[in-house]
Amino acid sequence: MIIIKSAKEIELMRRAGRIVAQVLQNISEAIRPGITTAQLDNLARRFIKSQHAKPAFLDYHGFPASICTSVNEEVVHGIPSLRRLAEGDIVSVDVGASYKGYFGDAACTFPVGKISPLAQKLIDVTKGSLLRGIKEAIPGKRLYDISSAIQTFVERQGFSVVRNYVGHGIGTSMHEEPQVPNFGTPGKGPLLQEGMVLAIEPMVNVGSWEVKTLKDQWTVVTKDGSLSAHFEHSVAILKDGPEILTTL
Ligand code: MG
Repeated sequence: MIIIKSAKEIELMRRAGRIVAQVLQNISEAIRPGITTAQLDNLARRFIKSQHAKPAFLDYHGFPASICTSVNEEVVHGIPSLRRLAEGDIVSVDVGASYKGYFGDAACTFPVGKISPLAQKLIDVTKGSLLRGIKEAIPGKRLYDISSAIQTFVERQGFSVVRNYVGHGIGTSMHEEPQVPNFGTPGKGPLLQEGMVLAIEPMVNVGSWEVKTLKDQWTVVTKDGSLSAHFEHSVAILKDGPEILTTL
């Protein structure tokens, strides 16, 4: 069942979303060649706690950190570590927080110093596909209108969308129904209604869409070793259209 949120609940989700957005902003300012992903995790955890919120990923199914940091061919769920980011890397940072029991979830892929034109194109296309998906989050449309807008844009640029991981509803749990795939047939899927809140999150690979999980049981990488990027926003479907909740 897709849970419809009241205006009051959406206001709490705005608060959670703003905290998540501020974490991503702080991380974007801290990222530089030589910084470790564990340092980024520390910064995130301390800020979330200072806001009287909780890091949503910490201990989630045993995840050992407050954010996910996925570098280059890593797609999602990378574990922060003593790995130092290097000039030319791209790093996808996924942040979740709960405030007064309501969740926000967002992700962004950042360049580390100067990156290749291909890496920059991947970032631009992935971010562009998210914005195109969000535009479809309107009452009266169907869920896979979002999915199709993302897939069509990505594939037209010659990249692929990951199939094994998808977006999700969000509210008093980080993951609620429905699943929000980044591929699908327009005009199909559940009817979108005012008060639904969706975490829309395209994961885009330069090469094939196939992925595998590393021995650490968490880190998902592209099977062909190609670069991957990930952008996500938590989005409320309101009468007049979509509102991005994970924004400053
Ligand atoms: Mg998510």
